Amino acid sequence: MTVAAALLFTPTASAVDRVDTSKLRKGVTTSGILQHMRALQRRANANGGTRAATTPGYEASLDYVEARLKRAGYKVSRDPFPFASWEQNGPALLQREGQAPFVEGTDYVIAQFSGSGTVTAPIVTTGTAQLPPPGGPGSGTDGCEASDWAGQTLTGKIALIQRGFCAFVDKINVAKSLGAAAVLIFNDGGTDREEAFQIGAPPFIGIPVAMTSNDVGEALYTAAQAGTVNLTFNVTTTTEEVTQHNLIADSKGGDKERTIVVGGHLDSVDEGPGINDNGSGTGSILEMAEEIAQLKKKPRNHLRFAFWGAEEAGLIGSTEYVQNLIDSGEIDDIEANLNFDMLASPNFVRFVYDGDNSTGEGDVGPPGSAEIEQVFLKYFQRKGLPVEPTAFDGRSDYGPFIAPAAFVAAGGLFSGAEGVKTEEQAATYGGAAGSWYDPCYHQACDTFNTVVYQPPLDAQGLEEGQQAADAAAMHGNAPKGLGQLADAAAHTAWTLARSKSPLVGPADARAARSKKARKKFKVAYRRAAMRHEYRGGLAIR
Ligand SMILES: [Zn+2]
Repeated sequence: MTVAAALLFTPTASAVDRVDTSKLRKGVTTSGILQHMRALQRRANANGGTRAATTPGYEASLDYVEARLKRAGYKVSRDPFPFASWEQNGPALLQREGQAPFVEGTDYVIAQFSGSGTVTAPIVTTGTAQLPPPGGPGSGTDGCEASDWAGQTLTGKIALIQRGFCAFVDKINVAKSLGAAAVLIFNDGGTDREEAFQIGAPPFIGIPVAMTSNDVGEALYTAAQAGTVNLTFNVTTTTEEVTQHNLIADSKGGDKERTIVVGGHLDSVDEGPGINDNGSGTGSILEMAEEIAQLKKKPRNHLRFAFWGAEEAGLIGSTEYVQNLIDSGEIDDIEANLNFDMLASPNFVRFVYDGDNSTGEGDVGPPGSAEIEQVFLKYFQRKGLPVEPTAFDGRSDYGPFIAPAAFVAAGGLFSGAEGVKTEEQAATYGGAAGSWYDPCYHQACDTFNTVVYQPPLDAQGLEEGQQAADAAAMHGNAPKGLGQLADAAAHTAWTLARSKSPLVGPADARAARSKKARKKFKVAYRRAAMRHEYRGGLAIR
């Protein structure tokens, strides 16, 4: 009876084998990783302080990682993908007839990928937006659907739309499809929703697009309900298609039908050198790859290292890569994706991707994601290191892998970005409560010095009035966290590469890939996507 019951309740999914990773972890050292990060800092210094997509700093980073991986014996390839590069060529003009021009930068900000041109035309609105949206900031659905514009003629006019609910790109696309000559989206008011900031328009949209502050937008909206409001909107921009590259390194041998992709983004934001985001993930993966090449044992499952391009512009490189795998059918050979994006935050927390969605804050990952989370959790437990889950929301390069069309198991680690550390977390991990996990997140001060020592006092993410004390409390913390997280990363990557048992049993894998399972997941994924506020560095809705 007991035996039968035990058999009945034996889970069908096979657990991952326990793999001894001590040799590898001994080889993966913090100083080795920091050397890679310093190399990336030097390349930023030599190229205007940034390693962002399309810059020479990115190309120099690519050269560095490529050379190291080749020297280590990997088969390295540059994987090209199309990317739109955009520039605003000079100051813009936005002016209401008979009034002084609005102030660029405060009253309005030109959207990334805005088209060029001069438009002098009346404003057109749906006429149905409520100011402010009665359901609170973000709740207004103004201009999300073509039907919102029923009864209005947009042709040749400047569409003025309230922010909220759907993505900016959706509102812009709808207005353009109905003939709008330019688009203004105004912030919808409320906490943090008063000012104009740079939103992202769809690349090659071809018409001028900007965001206005809540004040300016509401005033224009109200005036347009009372009579004709003429505006002149002029901006000159250049949008070009340029080829960018992911860097892919394959180990020799291993079962190709069980390929493990270990990745992280190689690019930084425009604002800085990106040494934590994501020099730390880059350095950790590179160090891991170099040390794995030194081991006597070879991966049982095929191991592929990926350094993604243009993540900060919206996961462009990894999305293109996954789409190509889907098109060729090779996606079915990918057993798992591990993602490492930010492992050296000065005010770190040990976050593990919540693959089983135990927190309910993201999605339940594709089958195998919960098992990957367990490998991380068991490792940290054995080391006596507390961890916390972080939402499995696809806000980095594993996003395309877990999307319904690909549906690959994923997992990863994160040391924290612009979130604020709690008192409880400070008690557990050290550092300073009230400041960001990475006070230099997406800023010029995300440098090697900040990582090795502490953030400068003008870092945006230091608590007001506590800058000096908080920065001092972070002194030397980043390398400590980095060492712990990089060891766990190496442990999990090597465990998956060596495990004889698959992450998910064949029967479960088949069931998991069934149409029904994907459909169910698609609903959950869409729901989660609606909650996303950001993609890459830009707010998306
Ligand atoms: Zn990042």
